[in-house]
Amino acid sequence: MRLKFAFMRFLTGIFILAFLCEFLIYYLVLYQCSYPVLNPEFEDSSIITNGTVEELRAMILADTHLLGPYRGHWFDKLRREWQMYRSFQSAVAIHNPDIIFILGDIFDEGMWTTQTEFDAYLKRFANLFNVEKPIELFVVPGNHDIGFHYRMSPNLEHRFSTAFKSRPVSFVSRRNVHFVLINSMAMEGDGCSICQKAEKNLKTVAAKLRCTKGVGVCKGIKPLPSYSKPIILQHFPMYRESDESCQEIDSAPPVLKNEKFRERWECLSREASEMLIEMLRPRVILTGHTHHGCYRFYPESKIHEYTVPSFSWRNKNNPTFMLGVFTSNNHALERCPLPQETTVIALYVIGLFVNIFIYFLPRRRFSLHEHKNPKTCPQKLTTIVCRKFQIFAVLRLHARRQKSKPSLDGSETSGAQCRVYLCVILCRFLSRLFSRLMW
Ligand SMILES: [Zn+2]
Repeated sequence: MRLKFAFMRFLTGIFILAFLCEFLIYYLVLYQCSYPVLNPEFEDSSIITNGTVEELRAMILADTHLLGPYRGHWFDKLRREWQMYRSFQSAVAIHNPDIIFILGDIFDEGMWTTQTEFDAYLKRFANLFNVEKPIELFVVPGNHDIGFHYRMSPNLEHRFSTAFKSRPVSFVSRRNVHFVLINSMAMEGDGCSICQKAEKNLKTVAAKLRCTKGVGVCKGIKPLPSYSKPIILQHFPMYRESDESCQEIDSAPPVLKNEKFRERWECLSREASEMLIEMLRPRVILTGHTHHGCYRFYPESKIHEYTVPSFSWRNKNNPTFMLGVFTSNNHALERCPLPQETTVIALYVIGLFVNIFIYFLPRRRFSLHEHKNPKTCPQKLTTIVCRKFQIFAVLRLHARRQKSKPSLDGSETSGAQCRVYLCVILCRFLSRLFSRLMW
């Protein structure tokens, strides 16, 4: 009967632990992040506004890599997809963005799957990253969705574009904030059919922006209500030699930072990067692909580039996503960490041991009733130790005051007092916990 009761309590403890690690922790971590505040000093004075500037709140994530039918263990799939589902849905519930962007590599095996498998993939994506209107969600393709340039077939590109209503280069404008969504693999410039389509789309978007700005001719082009510098969203980072200069909290580990990037594989080619900057004159570039965070500033063109790390524990122990506030003449972006996988594992291990210790370890021999001399009882002993410590701490504080009277100011005294009180409280708490465990 006693064992049955202990087992029931043990199960309750495990249930509370699972609730903490699989649900509550996401809210506790994500509540600590918030939208950044726009700094008026960074306003672009060259952009003409009509007095009222509307803010657009965006959430940006990358590289979700949903596992497909060929790679990964079922538990790996279950675990990491639950992590992404909980992180995404908690972040949307807490931050309520106007618009969400996923910067490619949504699927891990998109380029290998048959049409039936791809349809199943789409269903899973819709379940995991479901958002209610009026929140809008846009995606750009990554190399794992449709293949690198050498592998990207018109069929793979077409089925992805149809499923997500995108084009090799798409244009999205909300509240006078303009976004250009680019298929990085179509920026090869070798005259392939998808590259030609992308180039044509790009020229149309660039002409529309130039026309709205009042530069060049607007023949046959309908201008936008107002001009603002666009924001580029794409999977590959702009050309850079490596991640060596990246110093963000979610940057690559030192061992990976020095690895040289290959153009068209780890980043866009130098020509494609220069061409995009020249044609679109963006203010911000948001990219993914490397699975690690990075921030770069181009002083000549005053462009900010942010590389967003992977959203999945499968690729990163400490995933992050970005929250952004955009207006037509200003922007601010903030990196938001998700719970770390190692923290959750550590919580499970500690919680499990504490549960076993509390409910299954034999405790009768420690009972107060069986101790002839109450002074040797652990409960009494911890109380005595705690009192002794309290006396010692107060005496030490008094001695310190006497010794440093001329130099110790009020703040130092209250700081030392605080530390003593905290230690006493901690001691009392441990004493009670110990007593409870032993009796
Ligand atoms: Zn990629």
